[in-house]
Amino acid sequence: MPTLMVHFPFMENLSHPPRELVSRVGGQKINTGMDYTVAMQRAIALAEKGLGKSAPNPIVGAVIIDATSAIIAEGFHDRMNSPDHAEIVAIKAAGDKAKGSTIVVTLEPCNHTGSTGPCAQAIIDAGITTVVYAVADPNAQAAGGAATLRAANITVVEGVMRDEAAYSNRAWLMKIKKNRPYFTWKVATTLDAKVAATDGTSKWITNEVSRADVQVLRRQADAILVGTNTVIADDPHLIPRGDFAGYTHNPVRVICGEQTLPTNAQVFDNAADTVVVASKDLDVLVEKLNELGVNHVFVEAGPTLGSAMLDHCLLDELIIYQAPSLLGSGKQFFIFDYPSTITNQMRLDHISTQVLDGDVKSVYGIRNGE
Ligand SMILES: [Zn+2]
Repeated sequence: MPTLMVHFPFMENLSHPPRELVSRVGGQKINTGMDYTVAMQRAIALAEKGLGKSAPNPIVGAVIIDATSAIIAEGFHDRMNSPDHAEIVAIKAAGDKAKGSTIVVTLEPCNHTGSTGPCAQAIIDAGITTVVYAVADPNAQAAGGAATLRAANITVVEGVMRDEAAYSNRAWLMKIKKNRPYFTWKVATTLDAKVAATDGTSKWITNEVSRADVQVLRRQADAILVGTNTVIADDPHLIPRGDFAGYTHNPVRVICGEQTLPTNAQVFDNAADTVVVASKDLDVLVEKLNELGVNHVFVEAGPTLGSAMLDHCLLDELIIYQAPSLLGSGKQFFIFDYPSTITNQMRLDHISTQVLDGDVKSVYGIRNGE
């Protein structure tokens, strides 16, 4: 695997003195004097083990520490294998040692009874005395965990590494905010932004390391989306290749468009579920994806569907793998047919860049007017 040298602009301040950690007990501000950054970083890393396994739930990681910040137990939400929330996994692992401890968790503990009991109550029952979390639960149904904990005289610290934890949970947060999944469009291009030569050939623009990197992103998604064009032209399998432990099934393959598909296309084998949305209406696509309960959709579409989605504010992130090559003529990855004037350029937010054996991978955020 390539070494990940990801640059997150919002993580640049991590070496600065810890921010003020403020909590409220009974409405009164207190400063616990503890720096929970290291434990929270571990909790975020644990949460990310749930990528591709937690939908329609959020990814969540939890670490239980003692008064010296030593780790007693940890857990993450692995919905593919267990209904237990991260806090419950950690509490079960801690056993009696949870009494008097601190739990550091990436998301506000839930307060509702879903397929499992509320985590807030389990934390109270375990005798945990301090709860530290990064992101407040925006889901009205589950929110209120912090209030329940405070009412039980538990010290609650909120907002530790909020931006970082929110970034790793961006797919689920998007789902709550916009009632649609989070869409990442992956493209592999030449330096002159071509995805195929004029004769239509498109295989192997990028190198082996880039293609291995794509497998990880496929594995961490809940669905992989292409248009009918791509199935007809390239016959992709759309299955994460490689060894990924702990996954019971592959991401659902979603094909969108109105063209007739060959019945022997690779996407119709039984390596994963495949759903065909035989419509060009992107609202119909979103409705179907919501029905499927997916949080993160990895879009491997070509220029037609990808550009239509961008135009409809349905892309949140662009990941572009650029090979050090030029094709001259050929197919552009993006079709832009607005009146061409410089004021129409769409500005993206640069998130990270890494070099993969000569290819350049860059991640950009798309604001969709926000
Ligand atoms: Zn919970």
